[in-house]
Amino acid sequence: MSAELLINVTPSETRVALVENGVLQEVHMERQGSLGLVGNVYIGKVSRVLPGMQAAFIDIGLEKAAFLHASDILVDEDAPPEVTLERNGSVPDIRELIRDGQFIMVQVVKDPIGTKGARLTTDVTIPSRYLVFMPGASHSGVSQRIEDEDERARLKAMVSNECDEFGGFIVRTAAEGVRDEDIMHDIKFLKKLWTKILKKKKGVRKSCVIYEDLTLAFRVIRDFVGSELERIRIDSKLTFHELVAFTEECVPELSNFLEYYPGERPIFDLFDVENEIQRALQRKVPLKSGGYLIIDQTEALTTIDINTGAFVGHRNLEETIFNTNIEATQAIARQLRLRNLGGIIIIDFIDMRSEEHKHRVTHSLEIALAKDRTKTNVHGFSALGLVEMTRKRTRESLEHVLCSECPSCQGRGALKTVETVCFEILREIVRVNRAYEATQFVVYTSPAVSESLINDEYHNLAELEVFISKQIKVQTEMLYNQEQFDVVMM
Ligand SMILES: [Zn+2]
Repeated sequence: MSAELLINVTPSETRVALVENGVLQEVHMERQGSLGLVGNVYIGKVSRVLPGMQAAFIDIGLEKAAFLHASDILVDEDAPPEVTLERNGSVPDIRELIRDGQFIMVQVVKDPIGTKGARLTTDVTIPSRYLVFMPGASHSGVSQRIEDEDERARLKAMVSNECDEFGGFIVRTAAEGVRDEDIMHDIKFLKKLWTKILKKKKGVRKSCVIYEDLTLAFRVIRDFVGSELERIRIDSKLTFHELVAFTEECVPELSNFLEYYPGERPIFDLFDVENEIQRALQRKVPLKSGGYLIIDQTEALTTIDINTGAFVGHRNLEETIFNTNIEATQAIARQLRLRNLGGIIIIDFIDMRSEEHKHRVTHSLEIALAKDRTKTNVHGFSALGLVEMTRKRTRESLEHVLCSECPSCQGRGALKTVETVCFEILREIVRVNRAYEATQFVVYTSPAVSESLINDEYHNLAELEVFISKQIKVQTEMLYNQEQFDVVMM
């Protein structure tokens, strides 16, 4: 298999495409506006200790001084976190912990909002894909959300062995079922990164940032260590140089694969990536055989319905159905990755009578899903003939990143018919007429509804006019959607 990353960088957003054997498989994106300071590590200068508030203002080089509370200060920067816990909840006087003019290492835990400065802690932690590194800690742990005892033991053993004078690790939920070597990559990466931060910290005598949470391009590179990548192309010279420096320092295995892409065609025109992203927002996914998938994402789960295309003869019906289902398994595995769908997924394959066919379809789905770096679990056919599966939720789905709810139907996917709205209007006029003294009514509606009131529903409107002995005028509001209307009395 040949795999390649395409990285598209503009001042407002970064997008990364993973292409395997010439086919787009994954898209990752990050917009500048959504980036905060949380996770960044700074060398800050204590600008003012406020004993009454048990807090201090710290200058970290931002416009507004940041805020550090005594309860967020580790007693001794080199001491493991247990020491802070042993204080039994009684926080020492802030004047015993820090003094004006002192330089300290801090991490942002809350972004600055409005007039409020950033909130800080001295308990620095550095996350990676599967782990969180805790500098100075002498212990390691495993996320409570990993429940399997054997798995917990395996992960705990791995990180405990690696706990040394640098610090300890917490294993994140994402590490469940991940190969030893991939976790080792993370451990090595974090140790290198921490060494780099310490080196930077040494000579510093002014407020400045010494570690910034990795932005998308860097995170993706870090996460792809140990995979079968053959090439990483980047269309920004600046980012290319930054990535070269980053990989040489932290992931040397990948530095030879980096390439600057100066091409005249946009980088996402390669392998038709841009169009593939647009297609990944459609409900319908065509299959080569003429069949197609319908993918529906709801809050609770995703459903995938498989359909044969045009009419198929009776003679080979079973065979055609089986082949379409097999083809669908490949398409489903790809769409789940591409759209980044997580949680419960219900697949409605075309009904098969043969148990052997069912078995082979399930097996084919499992094989296709094996390429997915996100954990999946196939539960086989249920009593109603549906295949239930799960895929771990990681990032937001592509649709949630790129789309917002339809304002006309508020995401229901359906609008009241013109006829339904016409009848609602007629009922509303009757209601208002009973309650108030009006001499005339004006109805404001969307173009489609007013068209119908004047034509198809004219007899109903005329009858109502006679019934209430009042005139009803219809006014078109170009900006109203089909369900919107107003009944105004004159
Ligand atoms: Zn809609």
